[in-house]
This record gives sequence, structure tokens and C-alpha cells, in this order.
Amino acid sequence: MTPARTTTRRIGVFGGAFDPPHAAHVALVQAALDNLQLDELRVVPTGQAWHKAWSLSPAPDRLAMAQLAFAEVPRVVIDPIEINRAGPSYTLDTLHEMKIRWPEAEFFLIMGEDQARALTTWHDWPEILRLAIICVAEREITTGESPRFIAPKLHKSRFKRLQMPAMPVSATDIRARIAAHQRVVPLVFEPVARYIDDHNLYQTI
Ligand code: ATP
Repeated sequence: MTPARTTTRRIGVFGGAFDPPHAAHVALVQAALDNLQLDELRVVPTGQAWHKAWSLSPAPDRLAMAQLAFAEVPRVVIDPIEINRAGPSYTLDTLHEMKIRWPEAEFFLIMGEDQARALTTWHDWPEILRLAIICVAEREITTGESPRFIAPKLHKSRFKRLQMPAMPVSATDIRARIAAHQRVVPLVFEPVARYIDDHNLYQTI
């Protein structure tokens, strides 16, 4: 285990719908822990996602699945901060709350390339960049339409690349497979698959 640093606390923040959490989420978290010398990594399931087209599964289910998916990963904390907050979930509010709680900490906002490409549409994104370093993992491109993410020129120093093998996994695909009664292990881990089964999630899309 990497010893915790004694200087500024380094906190990773990884938000998402996690509907359901899958193997690429866990690989991304592992890559962040391995490469960013984080003291902890807070996985933050979104409350109300302002940018997702479908209605999400109930928050308690997504929270429970996240607990199961990341149970074996050291230094991960599942943080219900956005689920406990009323209204749409904005990353900026989350970072502000965390900054109040840990004023001396350095924050690393972790995301896949698709989210990074959309970052400049997020509420007050320059302030997000002021509060956190954005760490971007490559994501398998499935259509020819999505270009690779390029950090905005003026803010290059606020971005980092996270090396991880590109994994062609998405929650959308997993939900479709479940609705079609296909097996989803190992795309999701066994305990998560069991939870989905026990709670009849994703039976229709
Ligand atoms: P959906 O298909 O429902 O949109 P998703 O698989 O993208 O879901 P989210 O919970 O929306 O999962 O994603 C949370 C974070 O994980 C985002 O930053 C997203 O870019 C990242 N992510 C998800 N899947 C991958 C992947 N295969 N490779 C790299 N990053 C990923």
C-alpha cells in the first residue's frame, strides 16, 4: 500500500450516475489511485443528473451498488453528498462543499473523455478548474463522430491525462444487456449483478 503523504491532503472526486457501476469505473478509480498519490478518492453518485436523458434508478440502489462495486478498493469512500442535496447535482456545488470541509486539500476531479469533452457546458466550469485539477481517462470511441478530448489552451495546466487501458464498457450497454436477459458479469462485478437481480433493476429500457 502507498503510504499516505504528510503534506497537503490530496482528494480524488469521481462523480457519475453509476447506474450501474461497472468494471471501467473501477479500473478508472484504480488508475487514479495508482497515478495521483491520492490520500482518498471520493466516489460521488449523482442525485438528479441534469445532463442525463433517462430517469435514473433510485438513489439508494445506486448508492448500494457503488458500495458493492468499490468494496475491495482501498482509500475509496462512497460519498452521498449529491444524493443528500436537493435539486440538480452540480459538480461546482460539490467541490465548494468539499473545499469548505477540507480547506487545505488539493482536489482532483476524475472523469472519462466523454465528460471532459462536455466540461465547458457545465455550470461555471472555469470555477471548477480553479477548484480542481481535471484528470481525464481515455474512453473507447465507438462512433467515428467523437474526437479525442483536447484541453482548452488557456487552461492546459489544470488538466492531466490518466493512463488506463481503453475499455469498451458503458452503463447504457449493460442496461440493454440486462433487459435482453444477457449475462453482464464480468462487465459488472458479481455482487453488483446479484443486487441488480435481487432488485429487478433494468428489466426494461
Ligand atoms: P451511461 O452509459 O449510462 O451514460 P457511463 O457508463 O458513461 O453511463 P457514468 O456513471 O455516466 O457511466 O460515468 C461516470 C464516469 O465514468 C464518467 O466520467 C465517464 O466518462 C466515466 N466512464 C464510464 N465508462 C467509462 C469507460 N469505459 N472508460 C473510461 N471512462 C468511463
